[in-house]
Amino acid sequence: MAATRKKAENFSPKKCKFCGKIFIPTARSQRYCNETCRIEYGYAERKSVRSEYNKSIEAASEIDPYIPKDKPNEGLVNIAAEARKAGMSYGQYVLYLQTHRKKENKAW
Ligand SMILES: [Zn+2]
Repeated sequence: MAATRKKAENFSPKKCKFCGKIFIPTARSQRYCNETCRIEYGYAERKSVRSEYNKSIEAASEIDPYIPKDKPNEGLVNIAAEARKAGMSYGQYVLYLQTHRKKENKAW
C-alpha cells in the first residue's frame, strides 16, 4: 500500500485575528484559531462596513436634506421630479439649489 507522502510543514504560531489566541496554523493562510473565529470575524467586519455605510448616509443627509436617511436614492428621484416641476434640467436644478442654499445658509 503506497502511503501518500505528505511533507509535514511546520508553521510558526500565529495570533488569531479575532480572539487574539496564539495557535499553530494548519495552513499557511490560516488567520484564525478555529472556524468559529473565522466566521465571527467576517460577521463583525461586515457589521462595521455596514455601520460605516450608514454613517456616510447620515453625514450626507445632514449636508443635503433632500436625501432621506433610509432611502438615499429617493433624494435623487425627488430632485429630478422637482427639477421637472420647475422646468429645469436636473443639472440646472442642482446648481440652483446649491447657489440658493449658499445664500440662505452660510453656516456651512
Ligand atoms: Zn480565535
